[in-house]
Amino acid sequence: MSELQGRRIRDGIRHDIRLSVLSAAVFAVAAAAVLWLQAHGITRLYADADPGHWWYLVVSYLTVLILQDALFYATHRLFHHPGLYTAFHRGHHLSRRPTPWTSFAFDPPEALVQALFLVGIVMLIPLHLITLLAVLSTMTVWAIVNHLDLDTLPRRFPHHLLGRWVIGPSHHSLHHSRPSVHFGLYFTFWDRVGGTQDGRYGVGRRFISVRSSAEQP
Ligand SMILES: [Zn+2]
Ligand SMILES: [Zn+2]
Repeated sequence: MSELQGRRIRDGIRHDIRLSVLSAAVFAVAAAAVLWLQAHGITRLYADADPGHWWYLVVSYLTVLILQDALFYATHRLFHHPGLYTAFHRGHHLSRRPTPWTSFAFDPPEALVQALFLVGIVMLIPLHLITLLAVLSTMTVWAIVNHLDLDTLPRRFPHHLLGRWVIGPSHHSLHHSRPSVHFGLYFTFWDRVGGTQDGRYGVGRRFISVRSSAEQP
């Protein structure tokens, strides 16, 4: 790696950390809002342990992930519209080469949209506190995994079977190098349905990364 490349990566990480701090502030306000709503009995969160309904924990967990994935895909495509891109999403793409620091580097308006989803979901769907915790943990771990630099991973990391249906670093890296493809969060479903999956992704036994063909959004 040249000195110039090293400096660019360091500058990108600094920028991502600054933006992540702002995003964390937005999510903290949303968490405070959830606590306030909970104190006033407005959320549908519950903490009762009912062993007979363990299956509901799993169903509600998967339901939230599926809804979050669909909303993320729709809003993510919207944020790439030239009229919205600068205000909502440019910050996330300033680092052409993502690092784990990019995981929560969102412009505040984008962070607000994502946080509002969580505020809305706890008012709409009955969720056990453990389920909410599991969703938040999944969201965090998945975001970090999706922004792992492929070069630091074993060549065969992007799981040939799961990788067709589940989004990982190979899939999301392509979005950072070619912002017109791969808008999903957890699953490849909406990119397939919406025709935004790179035609070469998953072809053969190798999951590709095409950083060289950088595009404007
Ligand atoms: Zn990203
Ligand atoms: Zn994007």
